Amino acid sequence: MSDSPTALQKIKERAMLTTKDALKNKDNCTIPAKAETETALAYTEEVARETEALYERVAKVITRAEWPSFAPYIYEINKLKKEKNAVILAHNYMTPEIFHCISDFAGDSLQLAQQAAKTDAQVIIQAGVHFMAETSKILSPEKTVLIPDMEAGCSLAASITAADVELLREKYPGVPIVTYVNTSAEVKAASDICCTSSNALAVVESFDSDEILMIPDQYLARNIAKQTKKKIHTYAGSCEVHERFTPDSIRQFRKAWPDAVILAHPECPPEVVELCDFAGSTKAMSDYVTDKQPSRVVMITECSMSDNVAVNNPGVEFVRPCNMCPHMKRITLPKILDCLKNMSGEVTVDPAVAARAKLSVERMLAVTA
Ligand code: SF4
Repeated sequence: MSDSPTALQKIKERAMLTTKDALKNKDNCTIPAKAETETALAYTEEVARETEALYERVAKVITRAEWPSFAPYIYEINKLKKEKNAVILAHNYMTPEIFHCISDFAGDSLQLAQQAAKTDAQVIIQAGVHFMAETSKILSPEKTVLIPDMEAGCSLAASITAADVELLREKYPGVPIVTYVNTSAEVKAASDICCTSSNALAVVESFDSDEILMIPDQYLARNIAKQTKKKIHTYAGSCEVHERFTPDSIRQFRKAWPDAVILAHPECPPEVVELCDFAGSTKAMSDYVTDKQPSRVVMITECSMSDNVAVNNPGVEFVRPCNMCPHMKRITLPKILDCLKNMSGEVTVDPAVAARAKLSVERMLAVTA
């Protein structure tokens, strides 16, 4: 990347984009085409009146011109989910009209699954990716778990299978296997314990063993390896969103906004994380902004995160370096409405697999209790 004033200006312009801008900008991301069959619902006076308070909530990140394309779906979904005794779980990487306007619970994946398990709702709609829906099913086997798009996957979850875990167990006999929650139920079931990006270090330190195998995210594993004396064996998985950030891009952000606090997700390469001011999970980054109220912040993570945190922090200016997760962006309001109407997209987990996967999750929860 060049350091010329023009290049810096371009960096600034791109980084100030909202998620909506990024969705329209093919240079910034690859987004699945919108289903041609979607029929727009009418923006009636009743819809406008009933959704106005929700619009006020997201007015900082959604324009008046955009609202009529969202509001009818929001209105229908909020009505229907009550009739169907359903709750909607929205991950931090959902777009703001989903995250702030239709969700019952919003946050990171494990937190969402835990909250949903405590409700009386019979149906869980997972506004997130497939492994998250599986985690919800593992913690709520008696509930119906639906995902609005079955193709909403994850590069990390897709990088490893249960058979791979068994081969790794043979390669590293006796070495505990710590598995990131961004994996399939089968992989969790084949592991010794799970971890999240916020408790990974505590989970690693909970073992007596001097060696740990951390799967599948090589970058999370390398970031943890820098904080422990244990030998960490890694696996070649990665998040396609976070691995695209480079040290050079962080230096450019620092140069363009010297007053900004730069926060990174630990799925980023260690060479990126070490140039940032703070590294933490999506919840940790959100809490950092809420607690410390920096005047300007750069979040090195998925685009929608900044939009969603900005809604609750009007005094903070967000620079938006924009790496979009194409899997998360498969989830849209029309698909959520279809899913609710037709009770389609059910996610099931073999009960025996679910029981073993739940053990791995519970062992993690016991470490951090
Ligand atoms: S952001 Fe990365 S880890 Fe999260 S769903 Fe997308 S590819 Fe997977």
